[in-house]
Parts: sequence; structure tokens; C-alpha cells
Amino acid sequence: MYTINLETFSEDRLQKSVDSEILQLGKELFAKGAAQVVELLDLTARCVVQDKRNFHIQFKISKQHLYLRCSCSHAARGLICEHDVAAWLAIQEKLTEQIPPEWRMQVERLVTTNLRPQRSRPAVNLARRKFSIKVAGLRSGL
Ligand SMILES: [Zn+2]
Repeated sequence: MYTINLETFSEDRLQKSVDSEILQLGKELFAKGAAQVVELLDLTARCVVQDKRNFHIQFKISKQHLYLRCSCSHAARGLICEHDVAAWLAIQEKLTEQIPPEWRMQVERLVTTNLRPQRSRPAVNLARRKFSIKVAGLRSGL
């Protein structure tokens, strides 16, 4: 069972799944403090990102997929948007805060180790499944 953790929400996976322009816009939104985590559970998370107006982003982990859904028009076309990126980073930050400091280095090491043997198939297959990022092939080391 995949859950929302620092491994499924790694920056590495995010970079593989969005183009650099969207990534940059999302990082800027996050840096401005525009992204707020509203709810963070094992399998679902909700965020609000303030960008002219409030956008609502939902994350859901189900079997081997991580689903992202934003309320903006860009996301409605089946694309990962900058709000998704900002929300992703906010969740990552929240998850990091929840770990006692002495564990953090170890977790970072585990995440790096586990990401290396990942198969070379694309992280996102938008043609087949909208809003999904493959999490297959990764195990939680926690
Ligand atoms: Zn959006």
C-alpha cells in the first residue's frame, strides 16, 4: 500500500513529471507562501494555493498511482499545473516537519537509495491516465 510520504512526494519525482516552466512557476508560488496544506492523511491530501484567486488541489494515492487534481483551467485539460507543484512542495514541507530531526538524514538517504533502481519508463502517462504519476517500483523504507 502506497501512502503519502516523503518518498512518494519526492522532488525527484516531481521534476520528472512536469516541464521546467511549470516547475519554476510552482516553486515561486510556494516560495511566496501561497500554498497551504488543508488536510494531510495517509492516502489523501488537500491544499489551497492562492494565485489571483484560491485554487483547490487534491491528491489521492490509489494502488500504484498518485492522482493530482487542481480546480484551475490548465488542470482541466489534463495537465499538471503550477498549483499542483506548489501544493506538492507544501506537502513535502509538512511531511518533513513531522519527522524528528534525527531521522531526517536517514530518510533522505533511504529516498535517494530507493529512487536509483527505478525503471526508465515515463513517470507520468497523461495519455492513458490523467493526473497520475506512477509510484510502482518504489517501496517505503520507513
Ligand atoms: Zn492549477
